[in-house]
Amino acid sequence: MSTDPRTHIPATLRHLRQSRGWSLERCADATAVSKAMLGQIERGESSPTVATLWKIASGFGVSFSVFFGEATGADSHVPDGAGEDAHWQDAAGMGLDVLIPFDAALGCEMFAVTLAPGAMSASAPHASGVIEHVIALDDGVEIAVDGRWHSLAAGQARRFAADRPHAYRNRRLQPVRFHDLVHYPR
Ligand code: MN
Repeated sequence: MSTDPRTHIPATLRHLRQSRGWSLERCADATAVSKAMLGQIERGESSPTVATLWKIASGFGVSFSVFFGEATGADSHVPDGAGEDAHWQDAAGMGLDVLIPFDAALGCEMFAVTLAPGAMSASAPHASGVIEHVIALDDGVEIAVDGRWHSLAAGQARRFAADRPHAYRNRRLQPVRFHDLVHYPR
């Protein structure tokens, strides 16, 4: 399956908002993203960062990967589900591919992330109970948890509670890659 996030992201936001009957103002309150920005994203006039998309997902209580393709059904568990063929490159230097779309039964999804040289992406807290597992593919992946930076070498992993502020950065001169397994509580 192939989904173009440039059209799928605006359509998904519009669908989420309209299906709940939320005004832009109500949506801004729930997501902590400004009304103006939400309107621009919905009209396809602004290309959201990964951090902004996460705020929207958390505010609506949906998985992050809904912005990148069809989620598996609410009750379905697809053991052999393949990743979506969707790539997102944001203005903060974070590139993201969906490796494994959200699985409602397992409550998890997995992304491949690339940070450009010098990139830093700070994330607001995700929904309560969300846990991330970051597995570094290259030396130099750095994760801030509770205000402390941790540097990972290739092959190292770190699990952290992502329902608090956290951040990702790359201080190297070449891109660094990691996998991010996100787990949502029931
Ligand atoms: Mn995060």
